[in-house]
Amino acid sequence: MAVRDNSGAVLDLIRSAGIISRVELAEQSGLTEASISRIVKLLIADGVVAETGRGTSTGGKRPTLLQLNRASRHAVGIYISNYRTRYVLTDLAGRVVAQCESPGGIVNHVRSEAIAEAQETITALLSAARVDRDTLLGIGIAVPGRQEVNKYLTGTQPEDWVEWDWVSIQQEFAASTGMWVAIENDSTCGAIGEFWISRAPASKDLAVVTVAAGIGFGLVTDGDVYRGATSNVGELGHVVVDANGPECPCGSRGCLELYASPANIVRRAMSDDILAAHLDLSGERDAMWSNFERIAIAAAGDDEGARALVVEAAQMLAVALVSITNILDLERVVLTGPALDHIGGLVADTVRVALAERAFARNVHLIDVRVSESGRDAAAVGAASLVIHQRLGATRRDRAGSQAPIDIASAG
Ligand SMILES: [Zn+2]
Repeated sequence: MAVRDNSGAVLDLIRSAGIISRVELAEQSGLTEASISRIVKLLIADGVVAETGRGTSTGGKRPTLLQLNRASRHAVGIYISNYRTRYVLTDLAGRVVAQCESPGGIVNHVRSEAIAEAQETITALLSAARVDRDTLLGIGIAVPGRQEVNKYLTGTQPEDWVEWDWVSIQQEFAASTGMWVAIENDSTCGAIGEFWISRAPASKDLAVVTVAAGIGFGLVTDGDVYRGATSNVGELGHVVVDANGPECPCGSRGCLELYASPANIVRRAMSDDILAAHLDLSGERDAMWSNFERIAIAAAGDDEGARALVVEAAQMLAVALVSITNILDLERVVLTGPALDHIGGLVADTVRVALAERAFARNVHLIDVRVSESGRDAAAVGAASLVIHQRLGATRRDRAGSQAPIDIASAG
């Protein structure tokens, strides 16, 4: 296999190890030491990897250690969710060096506004972190919904309505910024982001549940994210939890989102007049997210009614996750996403108990359920690391032909 085909994988190993020798890289990658030497030489020549002192000898010469040259490249990650947009500027290791958030999202923004805002924000982030624009590899964008047939419509009048389809977002961002733009499903980005931020070993599978407006699921396996046929993986929100349940907009019945999405938690709270008054929920049409935050804060603060609603939603999430873990034999589930800002611990506790009681492999191994330490940033960081991954090495996705591999020497 060509040297460049493996450079992305080698870069990933260096990233997840922090500091590593060529011999260890050969052991962990399965490549020969000669191949590793050639790849490392290219990575060093390109400035993305640096030598950093010597390790301990195992008999012969003390090995030279390698690490990422973090400041050599940067990427922007943008997570456009329904009600807000999160921006991060990361270094080559996926570490956030600047970040901010705007209240504009898919529901209350049109694409042209989002692009204008992104241009200004990127300039501001670069300036705040004192990062040279020339080191930017590109922009990664995480968006909810289905690729190709995204039906989000925004704009005040029907004639202004603009669809937020993935192709237009990618093309218009690329045209207006002149940068390389990658776009991906938000739950997939959440999984990649979690993988990078937690420095998870590439050998471990990592399942990530993202609770935003919808509920998504991402799976990182062998250090790469599982994308399915068309990047439409991870629609955990449309896993059926009640075959006789109400109709779902997706065309199915009794989907998880009908019970556990933030909008449906709000709907349930609003249908209880006493609870709605007690929590001071607003009847305004665009108050969904602020209402949800009120419920979440009350639930975290031991308000009984709010807590019961959240636990009920988490139990439905657990029903879906018992099935998923039974199919995939997962060891670790990380919960992330903007909807878990206040209730992550409560949801994780509920899911953990359900998996310990009902998962098929419960007597064989524990299933670790935890809340991401980077809930707000995971999808944006994942989008940024997608750029790093795709531009600095051929990934499986590249080899499958959906994105042309870019030569390391020309990156940046
Ligand atoms: Zn559905």
